[in-house]
Amino acid sequence: MSENPLRRLPKMDLLLARPALAGEGFPRAVLVRAARETLEEARRELLSGGLSGPPEADELADRARARAARLSAPHLRRVVNASGVVLHTNLGRAPLGMEAARAAYDAALGYSNLEYGLEAGERGSRHDHVEAILCELTGAEAAMAVNNNAAAVLVMLSALAGGKRAAVSRGELVEIGGGFRVPDIMARSGAALLEVGTTNKTRIADYEHAVLTRGAEVLLKVHTSNYEIVGFTQDTPLEELSALGRLHGLPLLYDLGSGALDREFLPGLRECPTVAGALRAGADVVCFSGDKLLGGPQAGIAVGKRTYIEAMKRDPMARVGRIDKLSLAALEATLRLYRDPAQAGARIPALAMLNAPAEALKARAEALAARLRLVLDGVCTVAAVPTEDKVGGGALPSRALSGWAAALTPLGGGVEELEAAFRAAPTPVVGRIHRDALLLALRTLSAEDEEAVVDAAKGLVGKAE
Ligand SMILES: *Cc1c(COP(=O)(O)O)cnc(C)c1O
Repeated sequence: MSENPLRRLPKMDLLLARPALAGEGFPRAVLVRAARETLEEARRELLSGGLSGPPEADELADRARARAARLSAPHLRRVVNASGVVLHTNLGRAPLGMEAARAAYDAALGYSNLEYGLEAGERGSRHDHVEAILCELTGAEAAMAVNNNAAAVLVMLSALAGGKRAAVSRGELVEIGGGFRVPDIMARSGAALLEVGTTNKTRIADYEHAVLTRGAEVLLKVHTSNYEIVGFTQDTPLEELSALGRLHGLPLLYDLGSGALDREFLPGLRECPTVAGALRAGADVVCFSGDKLLGGPQAGIAVGKRTYIEAMKRDPMARVGRIDKLSLAALEATLRLYRDPAQAGARIPALAMLNAPAEALKARAEALAARLRLVLDGVCTVAAVPTEDKVGGGALPSRALSGWAAALTPLGGGVEELEAAFRAAPTPVVGRIHRDALLLALRTLSAEDEEAVVDAAKGLVGKAE
């Protein structure tokens, strides 16, 4: 029986003194943690019988160095979204354009008049920075922004429906995702839920009944962004709800979720309800996300009647969900682009991607496929293929956007391995498997992203050699 191989593992300080680790480059604490974890790993391997003898000290030092590099790399990283889903919630929803990113950068590096009135030299309100432009763009009397739309809905309900009976269609008691369920958020806000109608049909008469016989004091409408009821259905139009609200003096509150500001900004998605349209139809308050169809930073925006918005600003929940200065700066910069529809369409990346015509995507897919074919010769076949892209962000779930992708079909090995290899690239590339091919959709790729895709492919064959 030979001596215990665990004893032959180098001591911590000896490992740390090996050339691979002794050099500069990583903070001491990172090196120590990497060395400790590497030794623990080697110990586990020896105990499980996976190794015949302890690894050489230099090999362990190399492993520890690689671990230190992993520990030092930022955890939140840029990835290439080749999924064709424009507002991909898991990949950060709307990418910001240059103007918005620069505004956030400037706000981050210095002080600002965030809550300071420069003219009077006194305390100001952070809502002031976007209120006027939101009113200008949507036709609202007043506006405010909070941290996200979930917060905007909570503030709206807390301020305007707290302690009151709010009528909501049974077909609109939805879960938006991430545990945000309309009945739960109502309960948290202190609003009492009055369910109206049925899952598939809710008529104005159902709401009238709720007002006249069940004491409804608020009308709430929720845009069921992420699911659709099809078939034998009926939905009560905002116009009818608004008339009912006016007749009885009740506010009509609308959680629009993924709001485009107005029709002209998304010519290809005319079926999509808009913020300005909802106000014109008579909603008293409309709330929507900053990083869905608006194409801005994470934010929740509420627009509508002045008295209601002012009550929302005073609500303690508005303080809980307040927007931070970086998002506010990016939001203002995004909104300013909307003053010129052509500029908005070109400079707000989400709008440009959503509006991209299929022919343009086809030409780009063919060019990218040709480049990838050269790199991946003998590994994959590469073709430009038509795809069905998605809006994402819980908007228009059944709406396909006709797009184009480079389709990579591996000659040997599985498509799952190919997909994983692109995901493991230095700049990870997230594509989509369809049948036996990996699709890299052009709609969601910037020019820079296309270079990253080609680099990822080069890295792949470099490894394979
Ligand atoms: C997305 C969505 C929300 C939540 O918005 P966030 O900005 O993600 O907080 C709320 N309501 C509806 C209808 C939505 O679509």
